[in-house]
Amino acid sequence: MKLPFLLLPLGLALAIPADAQKKTSSLPEFQIKKSETEAHIRFLAGDELMGRRTGEQGNFVAARYIAEQFRKLGVVPVPGNTETGTSSYFQRVPFEKMGASGPGEIAADAEIMKSGTDWLLMAGDAVDLKAPLVYASFGLENAAKSWDDYKGLDVKGKIVLVESGTPETQTPSEIIATSTEKRKIAQEKGAIAVIELFNAPIPWNTVSKFFAGEKISLAEGTATKSIPHAWVNGKEAKFARALRAVKEVTFKTSGRVAKPIYSYNVAGYIPGTDTKLKEEYILLSAHYDHVGVGKQGGQTYTPEDSIFNGARDNAFGVTALLTAAEALAKNPPKRSIVIVALTGEEVGLLGSKYYAAHPIMPLNKCIFNMNSDGAGYNDTTIVSVMGLDRTGARAEIEAACKAFGLGVYADPSPEQGLFDRSDNVSFAKEGVPAPTFTPGFKEFNGDIMKNYHQVTDHPETVDFNYLLKFSQAYTYATRLIADRKTAPQWSAGDKYEPAAKKLYGK
Ligand SMILES: [Zn+2]
Repeated sequence: MKLPFLLLPLGLALAIPADAQKKTSSLPEFQIKKSETEAHIRFLAGDELMGRRTGEQGNFVAARYIAEQFRKLGVVPVPGNTETGTSSYFQRVPFEKMGASGPGEIAADAEIMKSGTDWLLMAGDAVDLKAPLVYASFGLENAAKSWDDYKGLDVKGKIVLVESGTPETQTPSEIIATSTEKRKIAQEKGAIAVIELFNAPIPWNTVSKFFAGEKISLAEGTATKSIPHAWVNGKEAKFARALRAVKEVTFKTSGRVAKPIYSYNVAGYIPGTDTKLKEEYILLSAHYDHVGVGKQGGQTYTPEDSIFNGARDNAFGVTALLTAAEALAKNPPKRSIVIVALTGEEVGLLGSKYYAAHPIMPLNKCIFNMNSDGAGYNDTTIVSVMGLDRTGARAEIEAACKAFGLGVYADPSPEQGLFDRSDNVSFAKEGVPAPTFTPGFKEFNGDIMKNYHQVTDHPETVDFNYLLKFSQAYTYATRLIADRKTAPQWSAGDKYEPAAKKLYGK
């Protein structure tokens, strides 16, 4: 899909008077050196950081680097962030890491089904069971829909066989959404294992590839030990037939154990200069985690190059964040600035989800989120902005980019739904106008895919002149928005506008 290139309004350069222009270029973001931005990206995307995977050593080293940069630059911990007892740059984010689905076997009479190929263990410890099998339809209870699949069944000490999805739908998302609930219900009823016949209209290979590996999720609340839960390939008619026919099965698995891990969001604060406006703040965000090494990356790698460096995704955005930290700390704008380097983006936008649920400063004082994230770029004459025309700050973003010789391109590749695929959405859902400032591209084509989540996303191949300009434009745009008289607003009718009304109470 192509969009017409959005030309800058001609009047824009004339809109800033000459004396203001002179003053403008003395701002700290205009003095940043290329070597500073290059140093940030070379460190963060260096091989030594091993792809910065959430909860692993390289991820911690990146977090430490960002925190110590804040300290050096005069960015202070966010007031009130005392989770570790004293004021701190770190917000600890609790995760649960589920190991890969291990070997195992389910036998229904002569039909032997192997874990990994014929079924996947979704949860549960190691077991070696031989027990009665009870068919419980979809395994759901919902009074409103008069589903009562356990009516008249005694499943205590038995294994439960259920269909995937609901009586109404077999879409993959519905199957996934209801699967955990089925396990919970079975467990409450005293069952010792669940076998689910997985029947989504997607190839079993795809399901298997996606769900067999390590999974990281947010760990909120107390985790209870789970009974073993298998997804059997229900498309294989002989498996479904065998399981439906037998009265007893054997179920052996080496288990899939969830263990608690953690990582950090790194947060800093720059108080604003205006006595009144300083009560409000702009939230700057960029994720610093990436996908890791070797098979963690989910893409091709070689023994010579197995590290997913994530230079473009997203050491690039973190460099912009650190540039903003430096320039805005030296010469603060009217409103305050909260800067958060986020973890856990690659495993499901989890760091930002956690932050949005546990903001260090109240979100209703946050007038704008300027997120930076990117898959890559193929046009160094522009910055691409997801949500540019929805979030009410086009004029400032355009003026800032123009000051560094860059154009602005709004919402490239709408078919990719990029607005809802980065951390900005965690804040947008709460109502905060939240665009994502992205390295330049107009289409999500080969040039982007060449590096996106690939081992080739090295810092050495980054255009450092562009990195500097991008980081400066990000910083200057933030300043212009932070100095505005009024807060930016969602476009009328935007899907996040109701959330904004709720958040800001107007
Ligand atoms: Zn990213």
